[in-house]
Amino acid sequence: MKNENFPILIAEDDAVTRMLLKKTLIKEGHEVVSVENGQKAFDLFKKSFFPIVLTDWMMPEMNGLELCRAIRQKENPGYVFIVLLTAKDSQGDLISGLEAGADEYLTKPFNRAELIARLNTGRRFLEQELALRQANEEIRILSITDPLTGCSNRGCLNTRLPEEIQRAGRYNRPLSIVMCDIDHFKKVNDTYGHQAGDLVLKEFSKRINDSIRDKVDLLARYGGEEFLVTLPETDLDGALHLAERLRRVISEKEFNIGAKKINITASFGVAGFDFNNAGDEISFDILVRHADEYLYQAKSEGRNRVVGGGLVA
Ligand code: GH3
Ligand code: MG
Ligand code: MG
Ligand code: MG
Repeated sequence: MKNENFPILIAEDDAVTRMLLKKTLIKEGHEVVSVENGQKAFDLFKKSFFPIVLTDWMMPEMNGLELCRAIRQKENPGYVFIVLLTAKDSQGDLISGLEAGADEYLTKPFNRAELIARLNTGRRFLEQELALRQANEEIRILSITDPLTGCSNRGCLNTRLPEEIQRAGRYNRPLSIVMCDIDHFKKVNDTYGHQAGDLVLKEFSKRINDSIRDKVDLLARYGGEEFLVTLPETDLDGALHLAERLRRVISEKEFNIGAKKINITASFGVAGFDFNNAGDEISFDILVRHADEYLYQAKSEGRNRVVGGGLVA
């Protein structure tokens, strides 16, 4: 990775040293912002993240050690590599610097080659840390995603839906869920094979996902051919309308499986409530049970339909 990916924040009260540091580091390809004391550096740091901070020790307002501690106490999006630059060079000073949270310690007047070498160490460390963070993020996303359809999985729903219920309760807001189940899906597998069935599941999930609000609503695969849509800020009426739209999005256009086109329908059970009326007794289980009951009613009344109701705790 290039140095330009590691912007550096410099805190140094001596104007000449500040200029010299800035010029040196810009020449190395870093993006550099420099300020004249620790307080200004920290104010800036709070607004935008810097993976590398180069700070003088003795400065007015907030000194280098205080800046180190402030940065370490703050929750940051990634590791911050801090180099303390100072005229102090006793062993006791060095230990205080490291204890305050500095990673490296350079004495002034600084040696250009040594400064660059120390920063290269920092960059190697930050690269490793970044790769680790990215790998963790990939694992996190995999752990909440259904591998076949790419929508959220049951585990994700198990954390997200209770959160939405709590939020609705806290702010007295409505919340609804729609349970969807593909009609006679076993027949699709039996007639066209499991791979065809998988294609239908993918396309089904895509059509539903394209019909709900991005980042607000949540589509999760609940089980085999059952999906659950969580609709925050949506009352029963709104949820019934949406479910009807979903029903049409599925039934009105044939599904392509290879060269063949087949008709798919689904049944929908909708459970909605308004916390103003329902009190705070709503739980994940109650909500899902109601949606399930309405779904079975939709099935028994002939499938390819929406049935729902409000619930009062
Ligand atoms: P109903 O209208 O009553 O819902 O009938 P159905 O056939 O859809 O329901 P049933 O529960 O009898 O069958 C569901 C089928 O879904 C059986 C199962 O093999 C199939 N299935 C579950 N998960 C997958 C999957 O990941 N891929 C494929 N191809 N099929 C799946
Ligand atoms: Mg100073
Ligand atoms: Mg089913
Ligand atoms: Mg089914």
